[in-house]
Amino acid sequence: MSHCIFCAIIAREAEASIVYEDEHTVAFMDIRPFTPGHLLVVPKRHAAGLSQLDPQDGGRIFAVGQRLAAALRDSGTDAAGMPADGPRADGVNLFLADGAVAGQEVFHVHLHVIPRTTGDGFGLRGRPVTARRPDLDYLAGALRRRLDSV
Ligand code: AMP
Ligand code: ZN
Repeated sequence: MSHCIFCAIIAREAEASIVYEDEHTVAFMDIRPFTPGHLLVVPKRHAAGLSQLDPQDGGRIFAVGQRLAAALRDSGTDAAGMPADGPRADGVNLFLADGAVAGQEVFHVHLHVIPRTTGDGFGLRGRPVTARRPDLDYLAGALRRRLDSV
């Protein structure tokens, strides 16, 4: 593997604001946040993309992302009974880019945890395919057959 910035963060050879770590995963603040509190969750074991990712590591990064989402949405109080400080969210997007065409820039799998608040300006702007209605049954059948070989 050539130099990987996320492996360097995991090894503490590069700086990051780490929020969570366990045996298999690390979560840290995104350096160019889409919204305040934007985090990344990464497996410690390097995997460039989904095809190299151990499914167990995939499950683990999702579970950590789910917990971080809960922390972002928590409107709890601190030990003194004051409203907890830090980023807040009314909702959360989990996002993973696999492949350059999908927007992946760092080739070490990472799950984005993006806190959302009303009017934050962030959003995935997709357009439904309108020109010709795709044959959904045909697509489903083709994919079902392909699932057998992966
Ligand atoms: P992606 O486009 O899904 O590959 O996202 C890569 C993300 O990694 C971007 O949101 C970057 O801001 C973030 N990023 C890149 N380098 C660092 C770094 N050294 N520390 C924290 N976040 C980083
Ligand atoms: Zn890496």
